[in-house]
Amino acid sequence: MIQHHATDDLLLEYAAGGLDEGSSLLVASHLALCDRCRQVVADAEALGGALLESTPAESLADSAAAAVLARLDGPPTQRRRVRVAGDGRLPVPVRRYAAEAGAHWRLMGRGVRQLVVHRSARSTARLIRLAPGSRVPEHTHGGRELTLVLTGAYRDAFGTFARGDVAEHDESVMHQPAVTDEAECIVLAVTDAPLHFRSPLVRLVQPLLGV
Ligand SMILES: [Zn+2]
Repeated sequence: MIQHHATDDLLLEYAAGGLDEGSSLLVASHLALCDRCRQVVADAEALGGALLESTPAESLADSAAAAVLARLDGPPTQRRRVRVAGDGRLPVPVRRYAAEAGAHWRLMGRGVRQLVVHRSARSTARLIRLAPGSRVPEHTHGGRELTLVLTGAYRDAFGTFARGDVAEHDESVMHQPAVTDEAECIVLAVTDAPLHFRSPLVRLVQPLLGV
């Protein structure tokens, strides 16, 4: 049962083709898991289509959302499957991007690994695997950080986030997500600027971690 949905602003930006590709990937993956938000986007697209008929056509084909959809329409990737526990439970959009990225998981810290699945000038999308009971160092954000939980769960000051839940944070939020003890947690995280860690030590090694 999804407790934390994508905001309506985010869904409308997605429907209008205004999001960067990384964020579009995250929203598309949430929609794959969430009937409620899928309906919001369908309504917005129907409304947008009606509006577009009365204005000069802007090329929706060029939008980042279209890029994600094109990836979904393409032939099944021939590359090896990504070695992720519970791989079969990854939503299709994420699975496609992860397969393209290969299996280059990088250690980010104790019990934390990342796989960058998309990087552009506007955003970086990464899968992050967190061992049961692990913690992400306390941090805030240079811009917007979107997180979608794919397996397992984590807790922070905003509640418990499990499969399908979306968290959206900006530079005003300092938080320290902690994975529940029961299982590994895999999230898709999209950032449009580097994170700011509170710990000087973590800041020192940040360039090595690529976050
Ligand atoms: Zn939703």
